[in-house]
Amino acid sequence: MVKPRTPRRRVAVRKVELPPPRPSVPGVLQLTWRERQISRAEIARRTELSRSTVSDIVDELLESGLVAEVGAGESRGGRRPIVLEFRDEAGVILGIDLGAAHAAVALTDLRGAVLAWEHRKHPVREDPAGALDLMTELVESVLKTWGGRRDRLLGAGLAVPSPVDPGHPDDLCELVLPAWKGISPGQVLRKRFRTPVLVDNDANLGALAERWWGAGRDVDDFAYIKLATGIGAGFSFGGQIYRGAKGIAGEIGHLAIDPSGPLCVCGLRGCLATFVGSQALIQRATELLETHPGSALAGRRFGVTILEDAALAGDPLALRVVGEAANALGIAVAGLLNLLNPSVVIMGGGLSRLGDLLLEPLRQVVRVRTLVTSAEAARLVASALGARGVAIGAATLLLQRALSDPRHFPVATAAR
Ligand SMILES: [Zn+2]
Repeated sequence: MVKPRTPRRRVAVRKVELPPPRPSVPGVLQLTWRERQISRAEIARRTELSRSTVSDIVDELLESGLVAEVGAGESRGGRRPIVLEFRDEAGVILGIDLGAAHAAVALTDLRGAVLAWEHRKHPVREDPAGALDLMTELVESVLKTWGGRRDRLLGAGLAVPSPVDPGHPDDLCELVLPAWKGISPGQVLRKRFRTPVLVDNDANLGALAERWWGAGRDVDDFAYIKLATGIGAGFSFGGQIYRGAKGIAGEIGHLAIDPSGPLCVCGLRGCLATFVGSQALIQRATELLETHPGSALAGRRFGVTILEDAALAGDPLALRVVGEAANALGIAVAGLLNLLNPSVVIMGGGLSRLGDLLLEPLRQVVRVRTLVTSAEAARLVASALGARGVAIGAATLLLQRALSDPRHFPVATAAR
């Protein structure tokens, strides 16, 4: 993988057809990445490869710049071994979070650390052209903030607020995003930035981020619920993200909570999204103003962030809205626990910053509504990554691919 057959010039290395990697190369690279620091002898011991094979592979990795020698380690008798280190800074990745009402871009290193971050509100669902320009602007901005060489960019992950069919990842769901009919943001961004762009559903990527870097790191079976303008879920089963046959798994927002409830954008009635989505919360708070004239929200225009702030400050109206949302959410989460029995449910997205204000009433509803065993087994926690989780997960998609097929690292340029 690491040694392209072309001479080292300033060329777009990713476009060169490289020979397939030897099966053992990804294994050695992954081990080095996981351990951060390791000696050749330890690699040989752990992979059961011969010392000379390991030595050849390490030479390639050193030349690629993905790995560096960082001095001598502890001796176990005999010469002190040279310690090898995975260089997290050898490449960067763009993680783009395209929400229904915002766009955010994270630039991460090869360890999920955010090097630069931009976030902007925008009516994404209604304005595809504006959203594409905004993403372009934010990408340019984070790259500028970072200030490094662009040939170290692995590519971009793009999280979209739509189910994504793994067989046709560039197509968005028209039902969810009618204004985007015929527009593929993945294709547009690939052309604009001339870099690989991988697309997946936002909740799946939130789950991926938690699995790699967050509250799901040591948990094989967990559910991640993203609470934002819309609401979606991502699942990790056996440590792998589960997407379903056509990528529709996790559309928890359209689970019926009350079949005679309010009409949902999907055409059905009483979906969870009609109780917990941003619009639903604002609408409910507005209704309640009549009976709560002393509320901090009275007499002002407010969005969901102000509503959350009011709840955090103890405003009774805002707390009631959050409590009602927790109740509806609890019905859905209880169903999810009974069906799938995850050991953890991670609450992510903007609303998760309410922390225990949301989690405590949610836990109560869940306790009442679940079979004793599944409720006892599951912990409900807030996301460790907060509002940046989805963007970090989008970047992680590229890292995951490159670690399993190192040809996706822009390696020949990383060494310079
Ligand atoms: Zn619905």
